[in-house]
Order: sequence, then C-alpha cells, then structure tokens
Amino acid sequence: MIDFENVSMIYRSGTEALHGISFHVDPGEFVFITGKSGSGKSTIIKLLMREEKPTTGDIFVNGYDLYNLSRYDLPHYRRRLGVVFQDCRLLMNKTVYQNIEFAMEVVGESNRTIKQVVPKLLHMVDLVGKEKAFPDELAGGEQARVALARAIANNPDILIADEPTGNLDPRTSTEIIDLLYKVNQLGTTVVVVTHDTKIVDRLQQRVIRLKAGNIISDTEGSIYEDETCEY
Ligand code: ADP
Repeated sequence: MIDFENVSMIYRSGTEALHGISFHVDPGEFVFITGKSGSGKSTIIKLLMREEKPTTGDIFVNGYDLYNLSRYDLPHYRRRLGVVFQDCRLLMNKTVYQNIEFAMEVVGESNRTIKQVVPKLLHMVDLVGKEKAFPDELAGGEQARVALARAIANNPDILIADEPTGNLDPRTSTEIIDLLYKVNQLGTTVVVVTHDTKIVDRLQQRVIRLKAGNIISDTEGSIYEDETCEY
C-alpha cells in the first residue's frame, strides 16, 4: 500500500529532512510515525500527499509511482487519501453537515448518496444533533470529529492524520484515537503522525520512530520499551 524505498529529502534551503529511509505499510495496517519536532514527520506527510517530491529514492502508494505521477493522475491519487490535520481546517462558513457534504460534492457524489452517507458518518463520530452547528460553535474534540468524518466521507484507501490530538485534552484525544482505530478496523489503512507518546502507548500498534531524518526503530507495540527514547 505504501512503499518508501531509500527516500531522501533535501529542501532547497539545503536542510536534509530525511536520510534514505525505507518502510513498507500493508493494506489495512495501523501505523504511528513518531519522533521529536524536526525529525521529519511532516516531510513524510508532504511526500505522501505529493506536495513534495523526494530528492532521491522511490515512493509507491496505492499503485502510483509518486515521483513520476502525472498532472492528470494527481487528483485521482489524492482522492483516495483522507487527511486529518491538527488544526482541522474546517470551512467556518459551513455547518457540520455542509462541511462533510461539500467534501463529497467536490468529488462528484450524487445528492442521493450524500443524503445517505452524511447521517451515517455523523452517527459514527457521535455528532448526531450537531448537523446545523457551525465549527466555531463546537468544542475542539467535536471539530476534530467533523474533520475525521469529512476525511473518511469518500471512503479513502488511506487515512493520514497529522497530529490529530495536538490541541486536545487527554480524554478527548483518547476518543479521537479510538475513532481512528475504528476506521482502521473497518478496513482503511491508517497512518498517524504524532509526538503524543500516551496515545501511541495506548493502542499498541506498529510504531515507526524517526530521529533527525532516520528511522531509529520500527516495532509493534509500546515505544517505551526502548530506553534511549527522547521526547
Ligand atoms: P517534524 O514534522 O518531525 O517536526 P519536519 O519534517 O517538519 O519535522 O522537518 C524536518 C527538517 O526539515 C527540519 O530540520 C525542518 O526545519 C526542515 N524543513 C521542513 N520543511 C522545510 C521547508 N519547507 N524548507 C526547508 N526546510 C524544511
């Protein structure tokens, strides 16, 4: 599903953000990518979203060769990704319902499908009754749940979450992570980038740890088993 082969990333400024990293994610896996600030986590997300191209190495995702992806294929590729950002990036002038509806409209879903799917998504993220609320009328955890519902509205093959619990208290963070896990259990490959060790430890899933642009471990389960870990 995701293949990084010897990927290096040197920004135009000369900063080497990734040093020849390789990893492979199978369909249906749940993977945390973790590491201190500056370790290269966001660079991996930018590469996965094809906002950047690697300086050297190959990236294959969902059957696409990202280095050689054509302009024609780029929107098709991105359509199969769902992305949740720390700051949610909801449309503030649209209601909860309309935020999700809009994400489906832009990919050409029929009104009929939208009317069937949006209530199911709202039910899944426990926001029934909040359909008509605007984002600024919601608590942080509720906004995160709208962002999650929107990210999965078009049934992506891969869900990428960039620090999804960054602005949330521990209890709300747990709810969001449990929801991400639920999405994974329904068959979606999930990649969560985070520096929040508590949520990583809670789920006991695969953890790829970065340090200064290198993968320093790739393990199942707790990150605390390695005493050299610095957070
Ligand atoms: P993280 O997400 O783990 O904090 P990043 O991937 O953002 O790490 O950054 C890795 C390194 O690349 C850092 O040294 C950072 O300063 C640098 N970097 C990130 N984005 C850019 C950019 N657009 N231009 C130049 N350097 C960048």
